[in-house]
Amino acid sequence: MTHDPITSISSALIVGGGIGGMAAAISLAQRGVAVELIDLDPDWRVYGAGITITGVTLRAYRHLDMWQDIADHGAITNGSSVFLFSGQHLRDLDEPAVDGEAPATGGIMRPVLHHLMQERVRAAGVPVRLGLTVDALTNNGDGVDVTFSDGSTGRYDLVIGSDSVHSGVRKLAFPHMSEPERTGQGCWRISIEKPPMLEKGEMYFGHKYTVGITRCGEDMVYLWMLTPHQRREKHLDEEELYDEMKANLEGFGNSAGWIRDNMTRDHWINYRPLAAKLQPGPWSNGRIVLLGDAVHATTPHLASGAGMAVESAIVLAEELAIADDALAALKAYEDRRFERCRDIVESSINIGATQLAGGGPEQIGGLIGGALHRLAAPF
Ligand SMILES: Cc1cc2nc3c(=O)[nH]c(=O)nc-3n(C[C@H](O)[C@H](O)[C@H](O)COP(=O)(O)OP(=O)(O)OC[C@H]3O[C@@H](n4cnc5c(N)ncnc54)[C@H](O)[C@@H]3O)c2cc1C
Repeated sequence: MTHDPITSISSALIVGGGIGGMAAAISLAQRGVAVELIDLDPDWRVYGAGITITGVTLRAYRHLDMWQDIADHGAITNGSSVFLFSGQHLRDLDEPAVDGEAPATGGIMRPVLHHLMQERVRAAGVPVRLGLTVDALTNNGDGVDVTFSDGSTGRYDLVIGSDSVHSGVRKLAFPHMSEPERTGQGCWRISIEKPPMLEKGEMYFGHKYTVGITRCGEDMVYLWMLTPHQRREKHLDEEELYDEMKANLEGFGNSAGWIRDNMTRDHWINYRPLAAKLQPGPWSNGRIVLLGDAVHATTPHLASGAGMAVESAIVLAEELAIADDALAALKAYEDRRFERCRDIVESSINIGATQLAGGGPEQIGGLIGGALHRLAAPF
């Protein structure tokens, strides 16, 4: 894939080296921008879950020349099956063909994806500084003056805040925005060996809890389960996480039942209350711009948050390459992204609300399929 050079800026600082920030670093460096990336985590890690890579997200990774990486180090299967919670196969999920390719759903372990993207960032020659954030950002003429948390300073043509749901850049430069709001559901995840009968993605409906399983490689899957969020006095410890997740899987059949029966206290298990918010525009303040969960945080119902972050990074780079003027490019970026991100965030919240209200398999499957078909449109 060829990439037109960017002339509207020559340098950029990316704050937050997660999926969106790394996609931005790769996209901008491919087009000749001198990019620097910082991340608050001194070890630049990610937690041990798997992640679902929909057909739409696979298309975005193709723009980064990473489709084959995901195929080689994760799994790409032909769509997903829908089951009644007890294990009876109902049908396949109505997934779209994207860009003429057969419907595909991929999965990969997050640490593997993180490592693959880190390799791309480093191969692009992007300097990475860790254990660092920004303390002050000041638009000044044609650039942004930056004070880092270690007291050092810098000046860049563009600063990108890709520092996730609780974005520090958002707090510093976007006073009209606020924290994402809880949706009333929580997500349980376990990373575990592949159940012998599982070939492709699976979803289980018709129970008060919704379950899905994504294949993440030859032998690995992760299972996610959505439940109403319960307020608690304290976080569950590892023992309690295991006990409660196993109990929640009671009554599930097929691969979900296999996972319940084969899970151990040594498997990686996590619980997280869900929050979402499409931030109101403008998404840029002078030459400071937001991207990813910092500005379009969504719930996992359409497994599209990461895909949206990668798409936003690609669109930002494309618009910076089209325009002569950086501010016009930032406006064009927001115009291209806002409605698509609004659809994802609002549809995801709506699917969660329908689950909480006891929606049946047809209704939930229809909402997911409908949204995925809309997302297959070019971005
Ligand atoms: C339970 C759950 C399941 C999900 N499952 C899926 C899925 O299956 N498929 C999918 O596509 N999406 C999924 N998502 C969404 C997806 O994980 C996010 O949308 C995606 O990671 C967003 O990328 P990001 O770059 O904006 O943020 P992140 O990937 O979270 O990266 C943010 C980075 O910023 C760094 N950082 C944070 N604060 C600062 C700071 N102040 N200064 C500097 N650096 C900072 C962090 O260390 C991190 O490296 C899920 C989300 C949840 C909650």
